[in-house]
Amino acid sequence: MISGTGLTIATAEVDRQALRHNFQMIQALAPDQAALAIIKAHAYGHGLLEVAKTLEDLAYGFGVSRLSEAIVLRDAGIEKPILLLEGVYSIDELFTVSVDQLSIVIHCEQQISDIEQANLPHPIDVWIKLDTGMHRLGFIEEQQAQAYQRLTKSLNVRQPVNIISHFSRADEEDGVPTAQQLAKFSAFTKNKPGLKSIAASAGILKWPQSYYQMIRPGIILYGISPIDGINGETFGLQPAMTLKSCLIAVRQHKKGEPIGYGATWLSERDTCIGVVAFGYGDGYPRSACSGTPIMVNGRQVPLVGRVSMDMICIDLGPNATDKIGDEVILWGKQLPIERVASYSGLSAYELITRLTSRIKYNYIN
Ligand SMILES: *Cc1c(COP(=O)(O)O)cnc(C)c1O
Repeated sequence: MISGTGLTIATAEVDRQALRHNFQMIQALAPDQAALAIIKAHAYGHGLLEVAKTLEDLAYGFGVSRLSEAIVLRDAGIEKPILLLEGVYSIDELFTVSVDQLSIVIHCEQQISDIEQANLPHPIDVWIKLDTGMHRLGFIEEQQAQAYQRLTKSLNVRQPVNIISHFSRADEEDGVPTAQQLAKFSAFTKNKPGLKSIAASAGILKWPQSYYQMIRPGIILYGISPIDGINGETFGLQPAMTLKSCLIAVRQHKKGEPIGYGATWLSERDTCIGVVAFGYGDGYPRSACSGTPIMVNGRQVPLVGRVSMDMICIDLGPNATDKIGDEVILWGKQLPIERVASYSGLSAYELITRLTSRIKYNYIN
């Protein structure tokens, strides 16, 4: 699309209405539960603050990984609960957490001794993390009772202590590992006060018995499926991001001639090639192979040749009438990111979080 000053290049259009729709659909699955909207990693590439503001009136609170992300939210006036999913690593950071009234996960002994030793203005809301099978963060079974005891006794901890864990395989067909994690979680949390939470996106879609008092939707908020081979649309979700750019060249191309670095693709016919202003320097996967679908003027055409830093070539077909400036959709409405991911060997989680600072964001609705 020609826009006064030139072409509209490398834009992520984020649909606030789709984000709200997805949130409301998720909340309808778990109507009695608190829903903590997970907005780490720049809200999965959609914009931390914009997404927080879009969901502020709907969500119970927000989950982020880093203290810096939480501070951005508080500085912008977001007052809802904010949970730091990995906790903090110094007494200074605990002080900030206390002043900003943030909630923290506590997953290791060092974090307990820090909170025991700190001198804080207010007690902190904490979530003890249990390792129920992910074996990444959290207290192992032998440590759980003592860690929990210490937190219930600390005057720096707001009582009651909440309990959190995370599934490692809830997206898979085989339900056995998830059922085992759930059994461990349920055994420890039984008859304990405080909120309990274990379900992220895959758990929310597949394990209603895992909802407890709080669910933690991440990728599904953005309309993307956490489960291989199924698109978000199948669950009634709407893609929140449509990633767009435009054609910067349309060229006649002769049968038998290759395209791009390494000459990895040869045309089997005379055709028209479109050159799209989008490359791995914008976050498109260089591993996307020839044949990866791309939308132009309402139809799907194949990517051909290697993805370059700033450009992608597409085969528009022999009689194409597309022209410089025409809009191209890399993923989003009409072209699920899950499909693009399947052509690149990457997960949709990785694609959505690797857009670079060159992308312009446009929030609609
Ligand atoms: C990232 C994260 C989530 C959200 O995961 P999705 O699969 O994107 O829903 C939930 N809980 C924790 C602890 C996380 O780190």
